[in-house]
Amino acid sequence: MAEDVDVVVIGMGPGGEALAGELAEAGLSVVGIEARLVGGECPYYACVPTKMMIRAADALAEARRVPELAGQARVDPDFTPVAARIRGEATNNWNDQAAVDRFTGKGGRFVRGRARITGPRTVAVNDTVFTACRAVVLNPGTEPVIPPIPGLADTPYWTNRDAVVATEAPESLVVIGGGAVGLELAQVFARFGSQVTVLEAAPRLLSSEEPEASDLLAQVLRADGLDVRIAAEVRTVDYSGDAFTVELADGPVRAHRLLVATGRRTDLKALGVDAVGCDAGARFLEPDERMRIADGVYAIGDVTGKGAFTHVSMYQGAIATREILGRPGPGADYHAVPRVTFTDPEVGAVGLTEAQAREHGLAVLVGFTELPSSARGWIHKVGNRGFIKLVHDAERGVLLGATSVGPTGGEVLSALVVAVHARVPTDTLKQMIYAYPTFHRAIEDALTHLR
Ligand SMILES: Cc1cc2nc3c(=O)[nH]c(=O)nc-3n(C[C@H](O)[C@H](O)[C@H](O)COP(=O)(O)OP(=O)(O)OC[C@H]3O[C@@H](n4cnc5c(N)ncnc54)[C@H](O)[C@@H]3O)c2cc1C
Repeated sequence: MAEDVDVVVIGMGPGGEALAGELAEAGLSVVGIEARLVGGECPYYACVPTKMMIRAADALAEARRVPELAGQARVDPDFTPVAARIRGEATNNWNDQAAVDRFTGKGGRFVRGRARITGPRTVAVNDTVFTACRAVVLNPGTEPVIPPIPGLADTPYWTNRDAVVATEAPESLVVIGGGAVGLELAQVFARFGSQVTVLEAAPRLLSSEEPEASDLLAQVLRADGLDVRIAAEVRTVDYSGDAFTVELADGPVRAHRLLVATGRRTDLKALGVDAVGCDAGARFLEPDERMRIADGVYAIGDVTGKGAFTHVSMYQGAIATREILGRPGPGADYHAVPRVTFTDPEVGAVGLTEAQAREHGLAVLVGFTELPSSARGWIHKVGNRGFIKLVHDAERGVLLGATSVGPTGGEVLSALVVAVHARVPTDTLKQMIYAYPTFHRAIEDALTHLR
């Protein structure tokens, strides 16, 4: 069957879902195609359920801090309410009917299936070929990458999708991958009583962030009882029926569960992007600042490689929406993309790291201050580890990037995102009044240490 419509959206992640709904509300005939669940990874398997897990795990950690501050507290962790909340409140038992109804209620037409772009404006799904008169939008997201470790593929390993449907914390867990996804889940399960080992192949955790953040997280996690191994070379994986054996250069590690968190990728070949002149072997699609990858074809979300975050997908989706409606605004600008790893302490960062700024040959000054030596950090006492690091462009007098690590590192980051995004002169930041005694007041201290 062949049909003509205005817009076809392939993949309804956060950006695609919002875009499809807005275009349908604006009166266009929009077909939204989703192979799995409308809303994508974020509400069902990623941001939302993992942050519910973290909220619960942080409550346990705070309760364990009571003896240092306020008497006694008994903590008996139970994962049951976490699993129930994820199933009942967050995902409706991994059912997207409400999201589908929301989209169709706006006038959109929903198709469940795996679509393929077959030409400049044509998309095939199930037994239909749609021709999009105005636009095709690609929002396919990413799938977990499973590294080619001998033995691994034949085992019942977990990805994030299995971890969020777990109904109990495993007795022991090996996490392969010390990035944001691996570390957040490693800390959650450790706080619920799992014996956790983290294996990171790179020389440090969170390798795309500042090395001070990597070091601090490694210290904090180890102090919490996690076995954190960096520069770890996994040779083989074996599963015996109730336990995994992960063979490393320095001997085996055994655990009941194994979580693979080694990055994510899109299968561009299966998506058919060569039909619109894009390289199907590339890691990402490279849209222009208006999100176009070809005439009338747009790409948004993780597949663009501009930051695998829901806020990037939404930001790009809004730009593409304006373009398709013929109301163009400012193009995409990625110099101040915020990113937060929701470990405890949280690691928030924006813009360039010190190393990236130096690679660009910029006149870099760095300001650094430890949170425990700030008034609020000292008051906070147990659980106060963290710092502010500022990367300053001495020539232009603005911040290029910043990192905020601490109990509310992601929230403190907001001030630094404004500074980097709006290129607020550092002199202006130095003249501001910072409320006493807040964690964000440490920014003022870091500014006085720029050298
Ligand atoms: C464990 C974890 C935690 C995370 N936590 C955070 C967080 O706290 N904050 C944050 O900002 N980000 C977080 N992320 C990242 C976030 O989930 C993604 O960046 C976000 O979902 C946006 O992705 P997307 O829009 O590219 O598409 P996705 O959300 O990946 O959705 C794409 C959809 O397209 C569908 N699809 C793919 N191909 C086809 C096809 N051919 N036909 C039809 N449908 C197709 C898929 O089924 C999928 O539903 C986390 C990720 C993980 C894994």
